[in-house]
Amino acid sequence: MERTFAIIKPDAVAAGHSGAILQRIETAGFAVVAMRLTRLSKSDAEGFYAVHRERPFFDALTTFMSSGPAVVLALSAPEAISKWRTLMGATDPANADEGTMRRDFGTSIDRNATHGSDAPETAAFELSYFFRGLELV
Ligand code: ATP
Ligand code: MG
Repeated sequence: MERTFAIIKPDAVAAGHSGAILQRIETAGFAVVAMRLTRLSKSDAEGFYAVHRERPFFDALTTFMSSGPAVVLALSAPEAISKWRTLMGATDPANADEGTMRRDFGTSIDRNATHGSDAPETAAFELSYFFRGLELV
């Protein structure tokens, strides 16, 4: 079993897609091992996306991620990191495969409904950024 970190981003929560996304997560065979509705501060979002600090979209990205409530999740499954990236689809919803989260719930590259860790090291960092060990059941 592997764990990954996921976010239902503020656009998808505001649009009322949290339930549908959670249903797809469970149907795909992930176990939810921690979950919380939260609102990131601007500095929370800046710390979370620190690897993108030099990118031109960094300010817009962190403003968006702190614009409203989001659902943060720890998911468990065999090969959870790549499995969740596949289920999410490409970063830009316009390029995402049919049936993926971003194709079905995202509206643009900067409002793409979900986040997923991209490697074991980022999953470990991101899980510990949002959850204490005791919260992971
Ligand atoms: P995430 O980290 O959110 O799961 P990702 O790993 O598919 O997405 P990254 O390259 O890590 O993509 O980019 C982080 C986020 O920054 C993307 O989800 C997207 O919203 C935004 N982003 C990435 N590239 C661009 C871009 N060229 N223009 C605007 N926003 C972008
Ligand atoms: Mg990323």
